[in-house]
Amino acid sequence: MDSNEIRSRFLKFFEQKSFGGHKIIPSSSLIPGDPTVLFTTAGMQQFKPYYINPEAADKDFGGRNIVTIQKCVRTGDIDEVGDATHLTFFEMLGNFSFGGYGKREAITYAYEFITKELGLEISYVTFYEGKGVVDRDEESKDIWALLGIRDIRAEGADVFWGPTGDSGPCGPTTEIYCKNANGDDVEIWNIVFNEYFCDGSREKLDAGEASLKKLPILGIDTGMGFERLLATVQKKKNVFETDLFFPIMEFIKKNSPNYEERSARIISDHFRAAVFIIIDNITPSNTGRGYVLRRLLRRVFTKASTMELPSNFWLELITIITGIYEKTYSEIKEKSDFIVSVVKEEEKLFEKPLEGAQVYRLDLEAAKLGVIKKMGDVSILKDKNTASGLYIYKLFETFGNPIDLMTDIAKKLAFKVDEDEINKALKEHQEKSRTASVGMFKGGLANHNEKTIKLHTAHHLLLAALKAVVGPSVKQRGSNITEERLRIDFLCDHKLTDEEKKKVEDWVNEKIKAGLDVTKRELPRHLAESIGAEMEFGAKYPDTVSVYFIGPTDSKYNALSKEFCGGPHVTNTNQLGKFKIQKEEAVAQGIRRIKGVLI
Ligand SMILES: [Zn+2]
Repeated sequence: MDSNEIRSRFLKFFEQKSFGGHKIIPSSSLIPGDPTVLFTTAGMQQFKPYYINPEAADKDFGGRNIVTIQKCVRTGDIDEVGDATHLTFFEMLGNFSFGGYGKREAITYAYEFITKELGLEISYVTFYEGKGVVDRDEESKDIWALLGIRDIRAEGADVFWGPTGDSGPCGPTTEIYCKNANGDDVEIWNIVFNEYFCDGSREKLDAGEASLKKLPILGIDTGMGFERLLATVQKKKNVFETDLFFPIMEFIKKNSPNYEERSARIISDHFRAAVFIIIDNITPSNTGRGYVLRRLLRRVFTKASTMELPSNFWLELITIITGIYEKTYSEIKEKSDFIVSVVKEEEKLFEKPLEGAQVYRLDLEAAKLGVIKKMGDVSILKDKNTASGLYIYKLFETFGNPIDLMTDIAKKLAFKVDEDEINKALKEHQEKSRTASVGMFKGGLANHNEKTIKLHTAHHLLLAALKAVVGPSVKQRGSNITEERLRIDFLCDHKLTDEEKKKVEDWVNEKIKAGLDVTKRELPRHLAESIGAEMEFGAKYPDTVSVYFIGPTDSKYNALSKEFCGGPHVTNTNQLGKFKIQKEEAVAQGIRRIKGVLI
């Protein structure tokens, strides 16, 4: 049974189950609505409000029972990727009910799907042993016994789920374990009974500082990690042998003269995650989601360099990954040009640092022969057999050379590496940048005369107009302002139509006429990021930044335009005159350029 078949069996099975069936709801974006949360990490995230307000489900979905396959990204275990189970991107199968059915149905459906649809044997199941106001879950235990399961185990805190965040629905769970190809029992499915609302976090609940209140309905929330399920059904020793990964791993194996299993797994996992993050319009940057994406991509390039994969290997990977997923997520094909342009741009930015690591290799080889290189007063070797950690750190700090690649190179040349020294220097570096002041922040305009200042404000309006007219995936990639005209380069997968250009001009001129105030606020960087202020591509920002807003802002800092920017700007848009697009052209694949003037 391949991955596509299991997905469709799961959805069909629940579509027919229970009175009125389950509504199939498409996966929500990897980017949650909540700006303080980086990525969607579980299937229930988008449904959390319905457990407290179940009537809303009737309105939003036309029923109380839902089934989904949700894309998720988790980056907490990123360093463990490469073993048999850890992944950054994964899918989660789940059925949900907001008062539509009870424990008996939830458990029976799971039992039927696992044993009849998938033909797996259940090793054992668990149920909650009870604590405080929460009773021992005898009901679940009895239901499993009636279904003929013999091994039913009472467990404690591990089988009480939630709440996530500061408060929310939570309750006892029952888990299903099956044997994998290695003969180990693995948890396949977790069925949560959201019976309570907790007024504090899980930590507070465990410490006895939060209380539980019964919810008006019994909520069902189940989650089954797709990749692990697949490995079990397909009887594979690890997820990388399933049909979701096998073609990627094969390609890497065939094309790497220096193959290494763990690195190949890291490339497979990270690149797949990167593709899905890009699909949701995130591009690499030095903060937040963009930084996660940058780390994933750069790790891929680093590992590919160690394994000597051919240049442009990643173009082939995009094709393979598209083949694996296009039936389920058609957007992967629709956005392929955009994905290519984002990866290509990051590869280009990372080219020099990668080359720098190879220069380090040559210098280390020379050091073996007695030619000892120095940077300032730090020498490349600490002693005859040990590479200096401080030297590696300095190369990272000055040129951005990847530390893990240089460490790798040194070890392969039989040097020891002083890694404590690297970590110590990194820590100091982080503290230094934390205390960096507003004064260090440049950005903004170099030439401050009346004409350039007006064009600068028009530039901010133009970027907002492009996002409003062409779409939120538009990202600024370069800008230049002279006394005569403004210029903006931006990510966009197509030539703007005449109609789009007209709409963009009209949008800007409307805002000019509206006489909107332009205001500057000093904000902590993390807040500025979380409210979605536009940032300059590749720039490093201090802890406090200035953000320019155009038009009124509400309590959540929503505004027409908000950009990290050093200014200066006009104080009101009515000072600008009339905006006109002079030219729209391509500058590179996936990057367009607009020149505009004020008349
Ligand atoms: Zn600006």
